[in-house]
Amino acid sequence: AEKLAMQSEKLAMVGELSAGIVHEIKNPLTSIKGFLQLMKAGAIDMKDYVPILSAEVERMEAMTMNMLSFAKPQEDIKKRCITKILDDVILLMEVHANKKNVQIICNYSGKEYFVWGNESQLKQVFMNLVKNAIEASQKCSSVYVKVEEEQFHYSIKVIDEGNGIPKDKLSQIGQSFYTTKDKGTGLGLMVSYRIIDHHQGDIRVDSELGKGTTFIVRLPKCQTSTDCKEEKSDITRKKDR
Ligand code: ADP
Ligand code: MG
Repeated sequence: AEKLAMQSEKLAMVGELSAGIVHEIKNPLTSIKGFLQLMKAGAIDMKDYVPILSAEVERMEAMTMNMLSFAKPQEDIKKRCITKILDDVILLMEVHANKKNVQIICNYSGKEYFVWGNESQLKQVFMNLVKNAIEASQKCSSVYVKVEEEQFHYSIKVIDEGNGIPKDKLSQIGQSFYTTKDKGTGLGLMVSYRIIDHHQGDIRVDSELGKGTTFIVRLPKCQTSTDCKEEKSDITRKKDR
């Protein structure tokens, strides 16, 4: 029964997401189609419009990626090195950061901390958070990625010195398709909150307008491989019932 309930909750979420995505994809598709027609007619110079078109295609790609990583069954739960995942994410985000001269600084170099989870989903979450942090940052500022060890959890903090989130908007973070960006989807955080929820963790956000924002992701610790196996078989047993 628990398994069914989880599945139907997921299906409902996927339905809600797809409806939003279909709506969101319509606009870039219409504009791409329009530009293509103008190009065919020779009315515009193609190279002037390549950046706009690429941005639109990238936005659609981001939406479908977020959607896919959520819809995929979460069976691949294993012991994962969260510090390695964070390093991979930071490497992927480097180009993005360099464009704004934003430095990404971490506090865990050389350390190996383990959680249990799905690698591509965890990557997705931290990619969304680091990308948002860079996007919120002023030129030449810093984004910090810190891991703090607690008794049963790791707290992973993504900290920026950017524009912050207004107090009255904080409750909308991670809900619905809230976005303040021209080319935003409002999907990144919604999917991230869901993924962390499915990992028995939580996300909190601390923000001050004009000062910056801190996203704190808490994930259950996995100290030894036996811990993980027990943890995993516990879940499997629950699901199998
Ligand atoms: P998107 O980035 O496509 O807008 P997200 O779900 O990733 O969608 O983020 C939703 C909104 O939350 C953003 O548009 C922005 O207004 C706000 N937000 C998220 N992260 C930050 C941050 N680090 N600083 C300021 N605002 C943020
Ligand atoms: Mg985003």
